[in-house]
Amino acid sequence: MAILALHGGAGGDGPWGGMTALDPQRLACMERILLELGPRLESGEIDALEAVTLAVEAMEDEALYNAGRGSVMAEDQRVYMDASIMRSSDQAAGSVVNVETTRHPIRAANLLLKGGWPVMLNAKAADAFAERNGLEQVDASWLKTDLRQAQWNKWHDLKSRPGSTDEDDEAVLDHDLEEEPEGMGTVGAVALDSNGNLAAATSTGGMTGKPLGRIGDTPIIGAGTWCDASVAVSCTGVGEAFIRTCAAHEVAVQLRNQPENLAAACTSVLDMVKPMGGRGGIIAISRSGEVALPFQTMLMYRGLWRAGAISTGIGDEEYSGSSRH
Ligand code: ASP
Repeated sequence: MAILALHGGAGGDGPWGGMTALDPQRLACMERILLELGPRLESGEIDALEAVTLAVEAMEDEALYNAGRGSVMAEDQRVYMDASIMRSSDQAAGSVVNVETTRHPIRAANLLLKGGWPVMLNAKAADAFAERNGLEQVDASWLKTDLRQAQWNKWHDLKSRPGSTDEDDEAVLDHDLEEEPEGMGTVGAVALDSNGNLAAATSTGGMTGKPLGRIGDTPIIGAGTWCDASVAVSCTGVGEAFIRTCAAHEVAVQLRNQPENLAAACTSVLDMVKPMGGRGGIIAISRSGEVALPFQTMLMYRGLWRAGAISTGIGDEEYSGSSRH
């Protein structure tokens, strides 16, 4: 049995209003990834670690997701990317924080995982590590898109409006939606391979207008990403709340307390995160093949490959719970 699940970020309030003009492109990207990698994972050509790495690399290349090219802009209009990855067999992990020129931050995290030490590298040192190890470096301007510039402009206008409040900022930072998602689109993947290995990976540009030096949950092992012998987890949402609850690791803790009920474990973690202002979503696969893709926001872009079939969803029009196998 092999399973691959993806997310492309969660956010928004209220009922989902249906697809935007750009959503078909987001879903098509996920479908391509699932169609290509699912059979390779099933046949054993690639293991869970490589599957999540390749999946996240492909989403980093899709400019409509908030990772790699198309990442949101920080307060200084620059792009700073975070990524982390972990595998079940030995709980090896890798993480990069605030990289600016590495095309695929998740591959840099993968190389750190394989190297064994250190687990995390920061900023210029992380980009230099990636370059030394042959990973493609890009011009910072290549990472920026018109959509993210427009979102930054809106954030900036709101911030500088006389009488604007923190709540106004929150409206943007918390992924307020009009037609297009505001800055959401963090990506993640979890996989179970045919040898029973699990892996999890998450990559992001963070949040629009984030202050310089801000580190969200995505690169923090145990907050945005976790993988042990029992479960692989990737989270998305307002990172500070996921850090304060060790959300991804907490899924494993909750699963220990209620084995074989991954959906309940994920939901109880989202219930812990929510009061801290961190509504969001989680994708998880357990060693026994349970899958849970819950979210407590308007939407979470998501996709699943299992037993040769793929499914994708955005709002609650499809699945948002779990299925047993
Ligand atoms: N968790 C990410 C962060 O806080 C953002 C997101 O998932 O949308 O940087």
